[in-house]
Amino acid sequence: MRQVGFLGAGAALGSSLLAMPGRSFAEYAEPIRTVAAAGRKVCLTYDDLWNEYYTFRIASFYHQRNIRIALFPVGRAITNNLERPHRNHENMYARMQAMGHEIGCHLYTHRHHRKFGLQQLIDEEMEPALAAMRQALGADFMPIGIRPPYGHITDAIQELAALYELPVIMWGVDSQDALCTVNTDCESACATTDDESAACTKEECALICIRHILERLDKYMRPGHVVLNHGIRNAYLAAPPLLRLLHRRNLQPVALSQLLAWAG
Ligand SMILES: [Zn+2]
Repeated sequence: MRQVGFLGAGAALGSSLLAMPGRSFAEYAEPIRTVAAAGRKVCLTYDDLWNEYYTFRIASFYHQRNIRIALFPVGRAITNNLERPHRNHENMYARMQAMGHEIGCHLYTHRHHRKFGLQQLIDEEMEPALAAMRQALGADFMPIGIRPPYGHITDAIQELAALYELPVIMWGVDSQDALCTVNTDCESACATTDDESAACTKEECALICIRHILERLDKYMRPGHVVLNHGIRNAYLAAPPLLRLLHRRNLQPVALSQLLAWAG
């Protein structure tokens, strides 16, 4: 049994685990992307959560339909909510947890961490994220898993997950909601050449993005998948048609803990 989750910020690594030289990827549990044994179940996950307004609307939308999602907030977004909540969004994480949604760790700063060693990940990312989560959700809170920003899995990330005894949660399919949201080519994509009047409005761009999300999920989503989305406007707008798509495909959205239970 490793002593984890109680390391203070800046804790030094003296445990025997970390004295073990050169553990390879193969020695760590596989990151979870899909759970084949789960049958026609999938888990909807939402990352980053910088935007409190749309994050809370997404959480409420699913809660009203008795669907539990997994949320992977950046630690700093939790700190923002604790210190400067959007109006009517005070205590948002405890409220979303009370809805039955599950909360994982997306580290603290969302920096590129490929060059981070284990100690830096602990000191600058994991412990600050845990501190924010525990301030919001209670001293005993443990996240359901770790999702590294940008999906970058390194040896140090694997070591971190092993140290804290948490699964690494990746995804089987990415809705690309964030990608089409920042797609600055939207106007040119739907405008006919030399006809400025055909340029897209913001709402038309949103519709194109939502269509892209649904087409992509319809094409690539499989039973057992963890599905990646983000806490943004287009993901909120895509939620109702996404549920219709799941229904049509006979796929049932379940909580991440339920999906993981099938992973054995
Ligand atoms: Zn992210």
